[in-house]
Order: sequence, then structure tokens, then C-alpha cells
Amino acid sequence: MSEYKYKDNVKCPWCNYEHEDSYEFFSSRYGDGSTTSIDCYSCGKEIEVTMHVDVTYSSSIECPGHEFDLSQHEGFLENNEQLVKKELHLHCNVCKEDFYEWSLPGGKYAKIKEGTFKYIGRAKEILELRQLTKTRENVSNGNLSNGE
Ligand SMILES: [Zn+2]
Ligand SMILES: [Zn+2]
Repeated sequence: MSEYKYKDNVKCPWCNYEHEDSYEFFSSRYGDGSTTSIDCYSCGKEIEVTMHVDVTYSSSIECPGHEFDLSQHEGFLENNEQLVKKELHLHCNVCKEDFYEWSLPGGKYAKIKEGTFKYIGRAKEILELRQLTKTRENVSNGNLSNGE
């Protein structure tokens, strides 16, 4: 008995013809182990065909609230040898996703979206330091009406 096993397409065991549109042999009801018989498009002889289905799954979670900690120290990104922007590379301890403050060209890491999140650990320190620096700049620029 001649046979082919686990091919991407149905191959005729009589004449070796490969049927490119094999999925059409199982039009409506099909699944792993489904069988049908067809006449070979090339030699016309009858072939028994069994379908094999590989099932894979993907899963993800909708993060209930990102907790950003720093996964890489604040650094400089270079683009065509030019300094582009200072970036914070953050990592959510809940969903394990990596983020940047701004989305990057090519979208390698997601941008931090508006919504529920908090900064923790080293990220929190840096963000607070940054806020403090901003406030000081405002004071020295005379932007605060009351002064000290
Ligand atoms: Zn054939
Ligand atoms: Zn998250």
C-alpha cells in the first residue's frame, strides 16, 4: 500500500500529484481526523484523504493597571548618529510588558497610554526627581506668582 503522511497538501499515492487546494476537500464540516475520498485531479484514481489539525493557542491578559519599574537606566537613543531623545525604558511588573515613554520608530515597544498606572521603585524615584527639577526651573524662571 502506498501512502503519504502529514503533507501540507494532498499528494496522490498513485501518481504523486500534489493538490494545492487541499483545504477545499473539506468544505464545511471538518476537524482533526476528518476523512473524505476524492478523485485525483491528475490520474483520476480514488484517494482516501484524512485531515490532521494542529491546534495552538495564544493567551494574554488585559493589564488591570500597569506598575512601571525601570528595566533599563535612562539613556540616549541614537538615530543616524544624532541624539534623538532621552527615553525611559519601563517594565510593567503586572503584565510583564515593556514600555517607553514615547513610542519608538518601528514600534518595538509600546508607548505608555493614558490610563491607570503607577510608577514604582527606581522609575518612581526618577520621575519624582524630574518633577522636582521642573518645579525648580519654574521657580527660577519666576513662573510661580507667590514665590517663597
Ligand atoms: Zn493521481
Ligand atoms: Zn501592565
